[in-house]
Amino acid sequence: MKVKFKLLSVLGLVSIFLLVAFKPLGEKKVIVIDAGHGGKDFGASVGEVLEKEIVEKIANKIKALNKNENIEIVLLREGDNFLELKERVDRINVLNPSLLISLHTNFVKLESTNGIEAFVSKDSKYYNQSFNHAEGLLNEVSNDNLVKRDVKEASLFILKNSNCPAVNLELGFLSNPKEKEYLSSENGQNEIAASVISYLEKL
Ligand SMILES: [Zn+2]
Repeated sequence: MKVKFKLLSVLGLVSIFLLVAFKPLGEKKVIVIDAGHGGKDFGASVGEVLEKEIVEKIANKIKALNKNENIEIVLLREGDNFLELKERVDRINVLNPSLLISLHTNFVKLESTNGIEAFVSKDSKYYNQSFNHAEGLLNEVSNDNLVKRDVKEASLFILKNSNCPAVNLELGFLSNPKEKEYLSSENGQNEIAASVISYLEKL
């Protein structure tokens, strides 16, 4: 009885070892986060609040918050650098990512306009996938402070020239005082970054 028990334990341990040793690792997904603007290009600005700074901070947080071994976050610009659109696309296409997310904040004349929206390009070979990612990201990132708007089409250079699914995420309106507050706050930026990560973890 004792011997049998021992044998079973050994067999159990061996099979656990085999399972662990030969478990196929999930394919690592490369996700490129493109913080829009940078350097001499401030993007939208309201007083001291600059689009280029907000999107850079959120991009950094997305990278820092990612603890998933199957996801590799690559930041297109690290620091406050100016990158030409062509340079961005060249880098993206070398990286060959599963998804490109370009981060921006919106600005319009009407202060009351609010919410998070996304753009995808019909000129991209990956239009359908891009659209689905855009919809998924809006569902995940929208919250009480950022109401969900629509996925729209725009023939943006980065979206149509990247050889991968590509989404331009307009995270909220700097022209809306409440959203400007939320987007500039540590808490708001953390929430947005965490929800981008939780979307990526579902892929
Ligand atoms: Zn922008």
